[in-house]
Amino acid sequence: MTTGVLPAGVAPAEIGVIGGSGFYAFLDDVVEVRVDTPYGAPSDALFLGEVAGRRVAFLPRHGRDHSIPPHRINYRANLWALRAVGVTQVLAPCATGGLRAELGPGTLVVPDQLIDRTSGRTQTFFDGLPLADGSVPPVVHTTFADPYCADGRAVAIAGARASGWEPVDGGTLVVIEGPRFSTRAESKWYSAQGWSIVGMTGHPEAVLARELGLCCTAIALVTDLDAGVEAGEGVTHAEVMEVFAANVGRLRTLLFDVVAALPKTRTCSCGTAEVERPA
Ligand SMILES: [Zn+2]
Repeated sequence: MTTGVLPAGVAPAEIGVIGGSGFYAFLDDVVEVRVDTPYGAPSDALFLGEVAGRRVAFLPRHGRDHSIPPHRINYRANLWALRAVGVTQVLAPCATGGLRAELGPGTLVVPDQLIDRTSGRTQTFFDGLPLADGSVPPVVHTTFADPYCADGRAVAIAGARASGWEPVDGGTLVVIEGPRFSTRAESKWYSAQGWSIVGMTGHPEAVLARELGLCCTAIALVTDLDAGVEAGEGVTHAEVMEVFAANVGRLRTLLFDVVAALPKTRTCSCGTAEVERPA
């Protein structure tokens, strides 16, 4: 999938990092590559560089100037573009709200499940509609019982522990449509179900990665307690950004460590699920 996408002399990437709110730059020495896809333009150019000898493509999920709200992100184009430059493993850091009192600001969660509370987002490459070239994707039902890569999660958890950032191993990420935050009642309902954190971008990112055979590992930074947990006025964007800014350096360092430690040859099942991949 790399033919014709990369400029001459630019080596393909193997690991993709999709940076979320407050996280717009990852690597210092990068080549900026614009990729067009059958699904339109990704959120921004891809920034290709190297970490510990591993080739990485960074993509700011909301665009580098945070101009794209969660419900308007072209998730299909983003995942497609990452694969087009060679990516097989995706790390997806994101800002989330804590749904339990013990998951306060600064907590790192590596979720193992997600709940889709979005509406109206295109969540498949196999939507039965013809592509620009006239081909029609087949009907496919993707196995998604475990939405995240087991190996990627293990590496992320080990990396966090090694850096002294005790992570929460597992938990359920509720993905809401946004761009508004939850009402107090919604938030209380999510908490009562035993779910852990709430965000706006984790879906359909993970399922689209799965459809393309890419590993996906979400690494969630809790930036606030959600409205149903705290007694105050509810979440504000300013609070979220403040906590994220305080932790972004630490998160970047952790991602460097995780990139370095990801397996060079995948032995997980993410790339071998029996689906017919879009070409
Ligand atoms: Zn995997």
